[in-house]
Amino acid sequence: MECDVVVLGGGPGGYTAAIRAAQLGANVVCVEREPALGGTCLRVGCVPTKAWVQTAHALHAARDVNAKLGVVTQEPHLDFAAAAAWKDGVVTQMTGGVAALFKAFGVTWANGHGRFTGPNTLVVEGGEEITFRSAIVATGSSPMRPPIPGLDSARCVDSTGLLAQTELPQRLVVLGGGIIGCEFASIFDRFGSKVTIVEMLDTLIPQEDEDAAKELAKQFKRRGIELHLGSQCTAVDDLGSHLVVHVGEGTTVECDLMLVSVGRAPVVHDLGLEALGLAADPRTGIASDDTMRTSLPHVFAVGDVAGRWQLAHTAFREGEIAAENALGHDSRLGDPAVPRPIYTDPEIAGVGLTERQAREIHGENVAVGQFPWLANARAVMSGETAGWVKSIHETTYGELLGLVIVGPHATDLIEAGVVALDAEATVETVADGIAPHPTLSEAVKEAGLVALGRAIHLPPKRR
Ligand code: FAD
Repeated sequence: MECDVVVLGGGPGGYTAAIRAAQLGANVVCVEREPALGGTCLRVGCVPTKAWVQTAHALHAARDVNAKLGVVTQEPHLDFAAAAAWKDGVVTQMTGGVAALFKAFGVTWANGHGRFTGPNTLVVEGGEEITFRSAIVATGSSPMRPPIPGLDSARCVDSTGLLAQTELPQRLVVLGGGIIGCEFASIFDRFGSKVTIVEMLDTLIPQEDEDAAKELAKQFKRRGIELHLGSQCTAVDDLGSHLVVHVGEGTTVECDLMLVSVGRAPVVHDLGLEALGLAADPRTGIASDDTMRTSLPHVFAVGDVAGRWQLAHTAFREGEIAAENALGHDSRLGDPAVPRPIYTDPEIAGVGLTERQAREIHGENVAVGQFPWLANARAVMSGETAGWVKSIHETTYGELLGLVIVGPHATDLIEAGVVALDAEATVETVADGIAPHPTLSEAVKEAGLVALGRAIHLPPKRR
């Protein structure tokens, strides 16, 4: 088979690249070994986890919020099988959607493990050889496993294993307090499991704004999630009926299941990269430049395997850029504002610089404004007032540097900050703009007003 562009991997980076290349008139083959398209994101990542996040939100609303709003129902409880079926149904619908798009755009899906056999050839296991002009590598990432004695127990699962559970674990230990670990901790706590997080660093979600990480830890503790921060897991004993997890010096935690979520590594093995003539690093993946081009002019790398970010939305954009450049355009990634959504409860989302980063770069010339949800009418009437919005700007020109949101619908609201940062907007643009009332979005504007020292809906700061 011959094609203009072969795409290796059918996740967000790969399927987007394939569709964009087809839009531009190319003959495209996308090679994906799993039985469904969509990659980690649609099959075992963003989509199924967020389907369960919705179940967790619904449970929380039914148990803790609805009655306050005057809606009284019978004692709510989780039907875990129904929640799993809901999640699986959403996945089927979304992955089927990508297959339908492939048909509509005329992209050929070659189902099987793909391996390069030369600079312009690739073989799909059990299939024919594909000859291509350009290749886009989008093989994603896979979970890492630290060398801790006992971690090979069947009760120690990764995120894919946890999503496949058919019974709710009574006690869940989450190893790793990063984004994936915190999202699952939040879900399973709402589901009714006793959740314990073990994290080597002193903070949860270490890459995020420190105040946001502290707020999350506060809310998790309030909900009864046990935190062992600054603690290392040294061994795990499988006693048959349950696990005993050894933490730090002499502490043990018993559980039925352990989620190992300590990070993901790029998938670079068994791809035939040597035959292609391309180098890869097992930790950082395949290097690509601003145009997504690798060291080979006709080969591009996008998404998790390219090592910049591990996010679906950045993979989407990288996929578009690679496809356009594979077909003779000159598209560039540049320095876009990248939102950092975390679907815990409360939700967290940041974009641009954290407060610490802003102060490291701009020193004294930084102003910050924090607006609490308690002072926002829409948050109060929906019964969800944990958290705040933080606006960060530099004081020479007033340029907005960052936005951090902890609380209801943070992951949707952050888009206002993405647009503002990409437009190099000033804090006045955000603060003096007119936000619809009563909405959660007003809190973004109000945070800007706080940063400018002219908040209307907060009392003046006491000197
Ligand atoms: P992938 O989605 O991993 O796709 C790569 C594909 O390549 C896979 O389908 C794989 O089967 C295929 N492949 C690999 N090698 C071969 C081969 N040799 N032959 C054929 N096929 C091959 N990101 C967000 O932005 N928001 C979220 O809410 C979010 N939640 C997540 C939750 C979890 C639990 C996890 C694990 C991840 C989450 N992510 C989230 C991250 C997101 O899933 C990834 O960043 C994204 O999927 C990366 O896209 P990709 O195309 O680079 O790779």
